[in-house]
Amino acid sequence: MTLFPFPLKEMSAIVAEWGGKIFFDGAHQLGLIGGGQFQDPLREGAVIMTGSAGKTFSGPQSGIIVWNDPEINKPITDAIFPALAATHQVNRVAALAAAAAEFLAFGEDYMAQIVKNAQALGSALQERGLTMLGAHKGFTRTHQVIADVRAYGNGLDIANKLGQANIITNKNLIPSDQPENWDYPSGLRIGTTEVTRLGMKEKDMETIADFILAVLEDKKSPENIRKEVIEFRKQYQKIHYCFD
Ligand SMILES: *Cc1c(COP(=O)(O)O)cnc(C)c1O
Repeated sequence: MTLFPFPLKEMSAIVAEWGGKIFFDGAHQLGLIGGGQFQDPLREGAVIMTGSAGKTFSGPQSGIIVWNDPEINKPITDAIFPALAATHQVNRVAALAAAAAEFLAFGEDYMAQIVKNAQALGSALQERGLTMLGAHKGFTRTHQVIADVRAYGNGLDIANKLGQANIITNKNLIPSDQPENWDYPSGLRIGTTEVTRLGMKEKDMETIADFILAVLEDKKSPENIRKEVIEFRKQYQKIHYCFD
């Protein structure tokens, strides 16, 4: 549930005191990092970074590992082959190549708009009365925002209710939750990767925030809001940031 960059320089200085190295799990942020929208972990002290090709990178499900330190070439490549993976699945490699080519052509614009949309969504939800994490720092530097939804219920029930209105979100633990709150956390996590891919911009985040609050405040039934969501979504049929 990363919203902001980590103090990696300071963290790597601390672990270096006992010979440790920073491994940065950039599963979500891989695309943002490649698109220049997030901190650059390998230049800030991490020695290895992993990322998911199917999150902000917006390609087929698979993993990417990057590093600069020749000392870890052998342990990493041995761990991958033969220890963890044997075949390279050419169908997936072709899809990954296409996604990477599109990323080189459109990634910077796409990632910049994802972050702008997330910030606009955070701000629109907060203005409408929802408590947003990180509001004092501009809500987010990533593709996602997190709401504290305790005033309306728990994150799971609210995600399900929004789902009835065709609004897909994710329940999420927030800092005040305890491990035993796992199934019924107080937070709701919302990402903008897909709506941005459909060509939505900041003004559309206001519309989405209106829909979300209409569900939370029981202004209409989720089924009725769903009809409006379907109408709204119909205007966005083209996939953006990719080759025709
Ligand atoms: C999604 C995720 C993973 C797992 O990545 P997959 O590509 O789904 O295997 C690992 N770490 C974090 C922080 C994640 O969000």
